Amino acid sequence: PKMAYYFGSTKTEGDSTKKQLLGGKGANLAEMTSIGLPVPPGFTLTTEVCDLYYKNKKKLPAGLMDAVRKNIKMLEKELGKKFGDKSEPLLVSVRSGAAVSMPGMMNTILNLGLNDVSVVGLANATGNQRFAYDAYRRLINMYGDVVCDVDHHHFEVAFDKIKKQYGAKLDTDVPVEGMVKLCDEYKRVFKKHFGKPFPQDPVDQLELAIEAVFKSWMQSRAVRYRQVENITGLLGTAVNVQSMVFGNMGDDSGTGVAFTRDPSTGKNEFYGEFLINAQGEDVVAGIRTPQPVKEMTKWNKKVYEQLIKYKGKLEKHYKDVQDIEFTIEKGKLYMLQTRNGKRTGAAAVKIACDMVKEKLITEKMGVMRIPAGDLTQLLLPSFSPAAKKKANILTTGLPASPGAAVGKLAFTAEEAVKRTNDGEKVLLVRKETNPEDIDGMHSAAGILTSTGGMTSHAAVVARGWGRCCVAGAGDIQIDEKKRTIKVAGKKFTHKDTLSIDGSTGEVMPGEVETQTPKLSGDFATVMGWADKYRKMLVRTNADTPADAKKAREFGAQGIGLCRTEHMFFEGDRIMAMREMILAEDEGDRKKALKKLLPVQRKDFVGIFTAMKGLPVTIRLLDPPLHEFLPHDAKSQQDLAKRMGVKAGEISSRVSALHESNPMLGHRGCRLAVTYPEILEMQVQAITEAVIACKAKNIDAQAEIMIPLVGTAAELKLLADRVREVIKQTQEAKKSKGDLKILVGTMIEIPRAALTADQVGEHADFFSFGTNDLTQMTFGYSRDDINTFLPDYLNEEILPRDPFQTLDSTGVGQLVAMGVEKGRSAKKNLKCGICGEHGGDPESIQFCQEVGLNYVSCSPFRVPIARLAAAQAAL
Ligand code: ADP
Ligand code: MG
Ligand code: MG
Repeated sequence: PKMAYYFGSTKTEGDSTKKQLLGGKGANLAEMTSIGLPVPPGFTLTTEVCDLYYKNKKKLPAGLMDAVRKNIKMLEKELGKKFGDKSEPLLVSVRSGAAVSMPGMMNTILNLGLNDVSVVGLANATGNQRFAYDAYRRLINMYGDVVCDVDHHHFEVAFDKIKKQYGAKLDTDVPVEGMVKLCDEYKRVFKKHFGKPFPQDPVDQLELAIEAVFKSWMQSRAVRYRQVENITGLLGTAVNVQSMVFGNMGDDSGTGVAFTRDPSTGKNEFYGEFLINAQGEDVVAGIRTPQPVKEMTKWNKKVYEQLIKYKGKLEKHYKDVQDIEFTIEKGKLYMLQTRNGKRTGAAAVKIACDMVKEKLITEKMGVMRIPAGDLTQLLLPSFSPAAKKKANILTTGLPASPGAAVGKLAFTAEEAVKRTNDGEKVLLVRKETNPEDIDGMHSAAGILTSTGGMTSHAAVVARGWGRCCVAGAGDIQIDEKKRTIKVAGKKFTHKDTLSIDGSTGEVMPGEVETQTPKLSGDFATVMGWADKYRKMLVRTNADTPADAKKAREFGAQGIGLCRTEHMFFEGDRIMAMREMILAEDEGDRKKALKKLLPVQRKDFVGIFTAMKGLPVTIRLLDPPLHEFLPHDAKSQQDLAKRMGVKAGEISSRVSALHESNPMLGHRGCRLAVTYPEILEMQVQAITEAVIACKAKNIDAQAEIMIPLVGTAAELKLLADRVREVIKQTQEAKKSKGDLKILVGTMIEIPRAALTADQVGEHADFFSFGTNDLTQMTFGYSRDDINTFLPDYLNEEILPRDPFQTLDSTGVGQLVAMGVEKGRSAKKNLKCGICGEHGGDPESIQFCQEVGLNYVSCSPFRVPIARLAAAQAAL
């Protein structure tokens, strides 16, 4: 295969469609070159080479270095410089870049090609000796660190010594002689820790650097990042070898990163930071604090205007917000990277709406542009203004990623992970975060750093996840060892709680009260588009009128699952419920059920009223009965007193109801078979509620759902019984006409899916209970899965948690079969899903493919499901 793709003025072989092959960085460097932006020329080694490298037992494939040499020749020709030359040396950077961007996860080497000879050449050619040696020391340091495993710390110690010697505060204060000395010092450090001297042959340098980039693909932090971000199916990383331009040539040079629009709010404003006289990583590393890009007008107006021009050009070309990296060498601007900018959910919504208004994209593109899951961020809490007013502000950092977070202080990523797993809410407090911290950042409720800017690692990663982050809060002194921070004259420890506001950067002591957000104009616009393009309905899982109302506000078109058992836990009802369960015979049971009937009826009237005009699927009692019983002596005694029996009798009844595997035991429709009175009471309550609503002109649309059916005979017996009770209740209430109450079942036992044609004969609808269906298809207990799931994910036995994203290849077959067979029995059988998966965008895509009529999810996920359903339909 072709291993190297050139980009430059001689020719450009790649383009932005070749991301899989060239990585995002390489593909876009080629694309930017083609559209006429100033990109330093170079070439990209493909991701296939990386794949070959690993298949080849970590050896660079034959022919690769020939291709490299050939492309270096082309570069030399284009630039009129020579690799390793003593008068005009060509220098290159070696940059990683996979198809999906993994910020900071892999390694970059700058200034490659310098050696003891070419450094003199560079000094002469540029007339700037200090710069040349500065570049050289950076190379030895980076090369040592990245390629040869020499700890960065050793170089730092050497640098500090030199700085002290020259009384320099900043790196930039070190004079020429100091830099020359530093290079010698660095070479010594390199040799001491690596065992061999710093390689002087530039092609050797290049070969080892290329290999180091390939190696970085499998280093643990990169592997972890792909896991957390669910990135699979990539061949590897590409390697970009690009001629160097220099932002560290003096005060007319600099380097920066920027977004074409504000990635926090979405505002159409150029947004970013730059540093004068600096190279590459200096900006993101947070060593020096950069200036906002708007300040650039004061420094070099021409360059700023050029950047603004490129902003327009890039957005028009890519039709999306771009995240760019640039360098200015002696007043000349170069573009070094562009990619679609990561943004918060709020920014994604605003940008999509603005770009549709600007006619840059269509509505449909707008719908596709917003990651549905990111809408959660808009539905997340912020601090209530009243509480905020009263709060004491300790300090204000940068508003790096919006939202409100409250938690106790954790000082390392490890600690954050551990304490979160133990059920605490923590804020991860760090001087600066680095890629090793991602686990902790992911676990923490929020992230607080004392250095670093808006484009620091912490900020970029946090925004991508919608995690609240305040960065660069410089007044905070962190003592990681003692686990304390000092700010505003106060000391806080791991036991103290702070509140951080990612939208303003404020840091406050204690727990500041939060509030749920109002859904703004742009949000409504996006929901409008979603509703226009989606084909599936979106219902909600709700058990109370309050939840039902909330979900309706979020746009739910019905209730897909109303669990009746929750209703029995409220207040005094549990007592009646227990009496019923513990009754000796049917007569006593009926007596107890009589007490439950009116409260159930009232619940249903409440829910029908909240959802008037929309369907409500009510599931009959599902859990095993012992879940309702008291297991401690005191409660058992209370119950005994109430029922007028001996305490011992209660405890022996409780142990008699004990089951070894209650989830596979006496529950669901099996209860109704044994105790038809329970079903009868519930159906009577539902029917009476419908009649009562009708009398008040409230359109109640009840759907009665029988859980855990595995055979057609079960459903036939019970559905007949339900229909009979409806009829009897109507007669007793002298209600005329068809109440249009549907009777259906949950498909959650594999056998029901396998025999859905028979089951379907007796059902008016199917609702796929994919939680139980997943549990029973895999044979995994969903309550115990966490003991082994992490290993399964690590070993890639499972691509992801099947309880979060529907396993479309396995469990999905049962769903598809259930729909198909069900509809072979009844042509237009209404089919929906009510498991956790109903709110998961990827699973929703699958639901669309198998032809479900609706998905049902928790109230807060309804907007997500609406958008995901539209994306699935487009
Ligand atoms: P990352 O993927 O971590 O952002 P990059 O490959 O983009 O790594 O490199 C980091 C930084 O190094 C760039 O933002 C840029 O400032 C600098 N850099 C990389 N290549 C060059 C080059 N050819 N000339 C000048 N600076 C470069
Ligand atoms: Mg970059
Ligand atoms: Mg179930």
